[in-house]
Amino acid sequence: MREMHKYGDCSFCGGRVKSDKVELVYQYRGKLYIFQNVPAGVCEQCGEKYLTAKVAKEIEHRIQTKEKWDKTITVPVGVFSEEASL
Ligand SMILES: [Zn+2]
Repeated sequence: MREMHKYGDCSFCGGRVKSDKVELVYQYRGKLYIFQNVPAGVCEQCGEKYLTAKVAKEIEHRIQTKEKWDKTITVPVGVFSEEASL
């Protein structure tokens, strides 16, 4: 059975937000976590993602309690120098 959540319109552009499964990059206490296949609302116009309180809580719970992750990847970091003119 598919659990549906009614999302409101996008608070950035007013677009329609539809239920989808997304990949989410989550930063918590200086560490990055990636969650895949996360149920979320996605704005059809600008792509802004919305989480329900339940999903956000579940993510924090997993970060705090999970010891075995499905995968760990390394993330390259690039710092723009102040001289860089764009
Ligand atoms: Zn939007």
